[in-house]
Amino acid sequence: MPQSRRDELAASLTEVRERIVRACVAADRDPGSVSLVAITKTYPASDVVHLAALGVTDVGENKDQEAAAKAASVSAEDAAVRWHFVGQLQRNKARSVVTYADVVESVDSVRLASALDSAAQRLRDRPLEVLLQVSIDGDTARGGADPGGDLWELADFVAGAEGLRLGGVMAVAPREWEPSKAFGALADIAARLRADHPDATVVSAGMSGDLEAAVAHGATHVRIGTSLLGMRNTLR
Ligand SMILES: *Cc1c(COP(=O)(O)O)cnc(C)c1O
Repeated sequence: MPQSRRDELAASLTEVRERIVRACVAADRDPGSVSLVAITKTYPASDVVHLAALGVTDVGENKDQEAAAKAASVSAEDAAVRWHFVGQLQRNKARSVVTYADVVESVDSVRLASALDSAAQRLRDRPLEVLLQVSIDGDTARGGADPGGDLWELADFVAGAEGLRLGGVMAVAPREWEPSKAFGALADIAARLRADHPDATVVSAGMSGDLEAAVAHGATHVRIGTSLLGMRNTLR
């Protein structure tokens, strides 16, 4: 008998949760201090409904069109999850994203933050949580604000924006870097941000391949796609 998709997701969810617990124990951290964000890009809304039924509370997507449609299908099924937007975002998508996203993790410019702020003030009844995407190596061509430059101005802008709430930072480890070096650097940046903005406590770091290193360096959220849902067959 082939496993049902629900059983398959239940099994991988158990494995991922065990990995998080083991990483916390190894780092001498409380396992409750790390939240799982299931990255469901390329997978159908039905998988989100399964994950929600299995206790997953937070899901992430990286494309507005796909995310908007999926969020609508999931809520039509009466499943409730918090939607995180984690991809590069064009300013003209801000009005769409603020209608379904609970958190936008990939804010890396004042121009984008400003578009989200105006859209959130017009279309939401409470502020949008925003994470600042950090370019750990300062190579901002691949997304992220530069911790040696514009990140700090961006932080002050978001903190002062009425439609936004500064939640913390998000990063992807640069490909050529040892993950622990990357997440160690991110931990320093996050600490510097908290010194100015004490409520900005979120550190979203770690994916399927490097969640242990991220947890060892203080990640509060890990974003897991492949280990939970399987290999994506499109390059994203
Ligand atoms: C796709 C994606 C992830 C998940 O990556 P996996 O390696 O599949 O776990 C995490 N963060 C971002 C920003 C992504 O685009």
